[in-house]
Amino acid sequence: MLLIFGSTIHETLITVVTFVCGYCRVDARQNVLKRSHRFTLFFLPLSFSTRYVNQCTNCGAETALSPEQARNAVAWSANRSSVR
Ligand SMILES: [Zn+2]
Repeated sequence: MLLIFGSTIHETLITVVTFVCGYCRVDARQNVLKRSHRFTLFFLPLSFSTRYVNQCTNCGAETALSPEQARNAVAWSANRSSVR
């Protein structure tokens, strides 16, 4: 029996915020990323897992975010851009 399966990770930048990184202590841009993990069997998607992470552009450290924290980051970023 031939079994064709695979998995992919799709990464999307959803917003950029700026604050002091907890790892490198530098006030740097933080990319808020949405990562979707997909498993396929015979080219059909079977499961999806979505995670949100905050990635420091200075040191590359990543922190897991909840979906609510990611939404708050998007709202915060939108408020900051409308004030300017
Ligand atoms: Zn950092």
